[in-house]
Amino acid sequence: MAKLNIVKDGDPVLRKVCRPVEAVTPRIRTLLDDMIETMRAANGCGLAAPQVGVLRRVVVVECEEGKVIELINPRIIAHAGKQQETEGCLSVPGRWGITDRPRHVTVRALDRYGKEFDISGSDLLARAFCHELDHLDGILFTDKAIRMLTADEVE
Ligand code: ZN
Repeated sequence: MAKLNIVKDGDPVLRKVCRPVEAVTPRIRTLLDDMIETMRAANGCGLAAPQVGVLRRVVVVECEEGKVIELINPRIIAHAGKQQETEGCLSVPGRWGITDRPRHVTVRALDRYGKEFDISGSDLLARAFCHELDHLDGILFTDKAIRMLTADEVE
C-alpha cells in the first residue's frame, strides 16, 4: 500500500466529473487500498478518488474504526429525512460548514470484486456518503454549506 497525496481546494481536478469504472481490475483494488491508507493517515472518515487525483468513481468511507466501506460507481437510490450538521473535508483543511443532508441514505455500488450491493447509512454515515459522492461530480461541501463556521466557532 502507498500513501497518496491529497489534492487541495483550488486544484481543478476537484471540479471534474469522474468517469465510471468499466472493469474492477487489480489496479482498482490497489487504488482502494492506497485510498484507505491515505484516509487513515489523514484521520479522515471518507475519501473520493479525485481527492488523490484519480478521476474515477471510487470512494472509501470509514466512519467507525475498522468498518471500511468501499464503493465503486456508487449512486444514491433512496434517501429520507433531513439533517443539518457540521461538515469538513480533507481537501478543504481547517474549514467547516453546516450542510443540509438527508438523514438516511441508501447507496448502490460495486464492491472490490465487481459485485453489486446496497448499503444504508444514517446520520454521520449518510453525510459521508453524500459528501463523498458529491466529490465524484466535482462538488465540494463548501458549495452546499448553508453557512461556513467562523474561526471562533471552530475553536
Ligand atoms: Zn471531501
